[in-house]
Amino acid sequence: MSLQLDERQRAMLLEMGVRVWLPDASDPAALAVMPEAAETPERQLAQAMLARTLPGEARPTAPKPAMTVAPGPASLTALRAPRPDAATIAQLDWPTLQSAVSSCQACALCSSRKNTVFGVGATQARWLVVGEAPGEQEDLQAEPFMGQAGQLLDNMLKALGLRRDAQDAQAVYLTTALKCRPPANRNPLPDEVTQCASYLHRQVALLQPTVILAMGKIAAQALLQDSVTDLAATPLGKLRGQVHRHQGLPVVVTYQPAYLLRTPLDKAKAWADLCLARAVAAGTRD
Ligand code: SF4
Repeated sequence: MSLQLDERQRAMLLEMGVRVWLPDASDPAALAVMPEAAETPERQLAQAMLARTLPGEARPTAPKPAMTVAPGPASLTALRAPRPDAATIAQLDWPTLQSAVSSCQACALCSSRKNTVFGVGATQARWLVVGEAPGEQEDLQAEPFMGQAGQLLDNMLKALGLRRDAQDAQAVYLTTALKCRPPANRNPLPDEVTQCASYLHRQVALLQPTVILAMGKIAAQALLQDSVTDLAATPLGKLRGQVHRHQGLPVVVTYQPAYLLRTPLDKAKAWADLCLARAVAAGTRD
């Protein structure tokens, strides 16, 4: 596969330190704030949960309104509430899903987050980029892929003619598999990935991207848990170089930007993965 790159894109790749795999020039290559109370996301979420209550069952408690949970064990105890079940999440619309995430306390990560990180970008984007979990900057700014790793990702995307702030054909939607920051940037626990995956799966279902770029093993695990045998024991390197499927949509696996900052020699492989994803998005590769 190949891309045609202009001078600006070549310069960006050089800035990334990507040199050896540059193709030559001849190579082709997101409710209105106050509508009726019945239409608020929180109300819709509550209705969705109540609708799933069977006769004779105790009704689940509706989640609290969207809020930022400040660190502190006392507030956590008072606010802790179950997450909607996966089947309920699978029926939520975009604003209600966002509200459910912002009030979620389904796993212990809610105890240390400053903000939930839902995602950023245009919901009509053809590209969906999924990272692993928010770090310190992402937690503070409530946006995925910030700091140096975010700058590297932005440069990688620019090399493909994509921008996180675009609303047109250059648009891309960025999110993470985990919506809350693990303390001290530790690796998310398997149960935390499982608990949070339903939110990501609903984002995918609503966005219907042309291609999904899964950056890092946790992102791959959240998306491919039903399609790859023995996924937890499969190294990321063995997931690269092929087109996987999630909800019937193509998924390309690559390294997370933070890893590439620590291991620049693997930028070449990441660029190859981006080229594969680009070919999938262009329809020249299934
Ligand atoms: S990481 Fe996901 S499942 Fe855990 S509290 Fe945050 S939003 Fe809920």
